[in-house]
Amino acid sequence: MIRVGLTGGIGSGKSTVARMLANEGFTVVDADQIAREIMEPGSPVLAEVAREFGEELVLADGSLNRAELAHRAFTTADATARLNAITHPAIRAESMRRLDEAEARDEAAAVYDMPLLVDLGLHKAMDLTVVVDVEPEERVRRLVASRGLDEADARARIARQIPDAERNAAADVIINNNGPVEELGPQVEALANRLRSGK
Ligand code: ADP
Repeated sequence: MIRVGLTGGIGSGKSTVARMLANEGFTVVDADQIAREIMEPGSPVLAEVAREFGEELVLADGSLNRAELAHRAFTTADATARLNAITHPAIRAESMRRLDEAEARDEAAAVYDMPLLVDLGLHKAMDLTVVVDVEPEERVRRLVASRGLDEADARARIARQIPDAERNAAADVIINNNGPVEELGPQVEALANRLRSGK
């Protein structure tokens, strides 16, 4: 099975491409979704986070107080690193387990949708790295329009990620999403055909 790492900077259209590949019939393992699932009530990861950042982060119904965790974990680099040390290995293990399941079902290819794929060096565990690329200023415009971020926040989030040149340098395939969304279709279809043909 071809393991396809799909990534792109925030606002690049990575989720849009992931949806199109799912519509083409490929299994898509969504790292952001797994990140939420591993913190569900009763999970060992949630217990570990509570031990590290405060038991009161677990609300009466067993769920995580996400806003308070964000406040405690994302205000200093050290706290962020401590949170990541708990969550990243768990996200990675569950992601790989789901890719293994796709392989056990004899699928030709499966897609790992992961925003930090290259930032964390996880692309090295993939057979093909696909990067969705868009100029930063266009991403800022799309983030402001679609997610209601203000421009400064959008720029700050982009600045916290790996530089586009480094991400693109890790790519086997670059999907150019600078143009209208209609121009994604043929590029995604070409990728899908390549994956189905096993190359
Ligand atoms: P990501 O997952 O990379 O953060 P999304 O797929 O959520 O990005 O796309 C960000 C926003 O930009 C969404 O609202 C999406 O519909 C929109 N979008 C994606 N591609 C294009 C495009 N080519 N032109 C205009 N808007 C786009």
